[in-house]
Amino acid sequence: MPAMSNTQTKELQPTTQRVVFDDLELGEIALELDDKDPQDVIAWGLETFGDRAAFVTSFQIDGIALLDMAYQIRPDVRVITVDTGRLPTATYEYMAQIKQRYPKIRLEVHFPDHRHVEPMVNQYGINLFYDSVPNRLMCCHVRKVRPLLRALEDLDAWFTGLRRDQWASRSNIRKAELDHDHHGIVKINPLADWMEEEVWDYVRQRGIPTHPLYEKGYTSIGCDCCTRAIKPGEDSRAGRWWWEKDAPKECGIHCPIETGGFEHEVQAILGETHEQGDGI
Ligand code: SF4
Repeated sequence: MPAMSNTQTKELQPTTQRVVFDDLELGEIALELDDKDPQDVIAWGLETFGDRAAFVTSFQIDGIALLDMAYQIRPDVRVITVDTGRLPTATYEYMAQIKQRYPKIRLEVHFPDHRHVEPMVNQYGINLFYDSVPNRLMCCHVRKVRPLLRALEDLDAWFTGLRRDQWASRSNIRKAELDHDHHGIVKINPLADWMEEEVWDYVRQRGIPTHPLYEKGYTSIGCDCCTRAIKPGEDSRAGRWWWEKDAPKECGIHCPIETGGFEHEVQAILGETHEQGDGI
């Protein structure tokens, strides 16, 4: 297993030192990880990257399952979440509940930059996302994508709860892949080959409390204003940006959105603030 012997070398490096892979190295490792259990994939990631890896979660079922698995391997894992400023109250309550259940996690809450939010809201309105897809993508970019970019800046790897069965754009994800959208760090998807029901089975067996909105018919939970419960027969992500037609059910965190038209507005907003010392 040449790739694994490679990782043994890398785990000896202090965590302050960057751990970098190229496409070839990571491709070999991904092949080896492909039939491994999520716990093995997590253990590999934690051994390889140490503190230069973090779990990124919005406290949905997949992220919580991963967090529980990781906690049994290393309780003081770094956990990153983005508070967009528009989350449901239930998410804040659940976040506090999870921190109580896993007291040793190092939870880092990242917020959007007010120098980006204020001009966007003042120019386009507090609920701009309902007006057009470009407006919605701009809001997601300012409130989610940018804060996450900042959070990932000092990381060499991030763990996500992505699964191949979630959405067409996720059907080809590997358990470890180079994330070229985030300066080439490693994106680790330990649940890539799990089905939704397997995740629920794991969480039930472990007695883990779940986000209270699941009980109200939600199947994917994001910002309060952009998420609703699904109706019988609908796709599990149908409750996200439900008013949009033929737009990707993505915010841009996990894949670039190319249906845009919003980039010019974003640049105008970020450009204005950049002159004021933005630094992003
Ligand atoms: S989900 Fe809605 S409120 Fe949240 S960042 Fe995206 S557009 Fe903005």
